[in-house]
Amino acid sequence: MKYDMIKVYGQDLNSKFRLQLKACATFSLARMLPKRKRLLDNVSLDIHVRHHDCEGEARFKDGDNVYRPRNFQIIIDKHRLVKDDYQRECSETEHAHKIFETLCHECVHVKQYLTNELTLRTGNLFWKGHHYDVESMLDYHETPYEIEAYGRQRGLLLGFLSIISELEDEIEY
Ligand SMILES: [Zn+2]
Repeated sequence: MKYDMIKVYGQDLNSKFRLQLKACATFSLARMLPKRKRLLDNVSLDIHVRHHDCEGEARFKDGDNVYRPRNFQIIIDKHRLVKDDYQRECSETEHAHKIFETLCHECVHVKQYLTNELTLRTGNLFWKGHHYDVESMLDYHETPYEIEAYGRQRGLLLGFLSIISELEDEIEY
């Protein structure tokens, strides 16, 4: 992905963190779509870090072609990520990692949209042409698109963290 095609919106984010968010999205999509550089060069992404009704969401930008989406928004609510599942306050590093991991998760959905595995038709999601009724959190976690997103978010996070530590080592020396 081209860095100038990624924009980060949000208050209280320093320039290093903004750059890391761009690097995280770029890494995740390149990792999931190897040899698809030309496709990825046509993708634009706005990352919004703000209050939202869930921890993260990936969606098309207004006016994008729903049959061939290339322009995406990812919204991350960092305020929902300050505590862990057991209501324990996270350290600053842990909080940052949770934001990156959420971004990785949403990038999996962007990948699914780019490959048309996941499609949106008249407000309904279809996975490889099949619509899954989601009426509970259990249903949600059992959809194939969430299984893939939860299944890959950790590996993508760890891969991203290993490359940023290398980049930062390079800067230091
Ligand atoms: Zn998801």
